[in-house]
Amino acid sequence: MLIDFRSDTVTKPSPDMLEAMMKAKVGDDVFGEDPSINELENRSASLFGMEAGLFCPSGTMTNQVAIKCHTQPGDEVICDESAHIYQYEGGGIASNSGASVKLMQGDRGRFTAAQAKAAINPDDVHRANTSLICLENTSNRGGGSCYDFDEIKKIKALCTENKLAFHLDGARLWNALVAKNETPKQYGEVFDSISICFSKSLGCPVGSVLLGTKEFIKKARRIRKVFGGGMRQAGFIAAAGIYALENNIQRLEEDHLHAQQISEAIAKKNFVKMVLPVETNIIIFELKEGMSAPELVAKLKEHNILGYAIAPNRVRLVTHLDITKEMTATTIERFNQL
Ligand SMILES: *Cc1c(COP(=O)(O)O)cnc(C)c1O
Repeated sequence: MLIDFRSDTVTKPSPDMLEAMMKAKVGDDVFGEDPSINELENRSASLFGMEAGLFCPSGTMTNQVAIKCHTQPGDEVICDESAHIYQYEGGGIASNSGASVKLMQGDRGRFTAAQAKAAINPDDVHRANTSLICLENTSNRGGGSCYDFDEIKKIKALCTENKLAFHLDGARLWNALVAKNETPKQYGEVFDSISICFSKSLGCPVGSVLLGTKEFIKKARRIRKVFGGGMRQAGFIAAAGIYALENNIQRLEEDHLHAQQISEAIAKKNFVKMVLPVETNIIIFELKEGMSAPELVAKLKEHNILGYAIAPNRVRLVTHLDITKEMTATTIERFNQL
């Protein structure tokens, strides 16, 4: 049996989730007539205390739609150098929005208000117009690190002062909320737009929701259509999201515990140089010279453990809904024997 830690996207819908999907009431969502999509959008928005939501097929689309809504061609977006919107969305900021980026060198994916302040261009015809700051919480390449909420509030104040839009890539915000005992409403109060994903930690097959004001979501709906994201009877997949909101959030604690336990076994290995602090469900570790990340990933595969080489000397393992307590124990044993 393979134990798959490549990503928290590899989960398959549970029998109960599938049943909820099969029973979904559906309609044509481009006409605004899919009751399950409307329910998921509305429930997500009210959970965060925001006005409206927009269901999209992926987190890349929710982020890219948001960036396009918030910017004009030629504008500049501030984000961390490790950000998913910059690293893993195919250059979409440039190709979809015609915007440039200024990259922050944050601490495990998190930059400070002071860094952002220094990165805002002055009002000068030579310079690109800074119009948007994007944060990622938890940070993927930062190893599932969580932002300090006080720092987020400082960055919000900076946005207000400089009339910048403020977007959150919350693909794994659920993990941060559970790990830090924070509420969705805290986030809804400070961000202009938030992207949340259902296909990662919450175990759904597909789906993300973009949140914002009614006016913002109206604009976003138009852009989603242009991007080809207007879906029809997609309530079958939205129903999985509704099921996940009701059943799969608090259990993220288990994923975090499993990640912690596995990371302790990894830290003891003599071929491991260091393990990034494990705050949620992601373990990133660096190897000493003598073993490359692809080599270790191949070796783990012989032991039926799947991981991912995110850099020549860095391996990532992600825990998720389909990783059981028993699989965690087996993984620890196999690391002990390596
Ligand atoms: C996975 C992820 C996304 C969205 O990815 P999709 O595969 O397009 O759903 C966005 N941001 C972060 C930080 C992610 O990890």
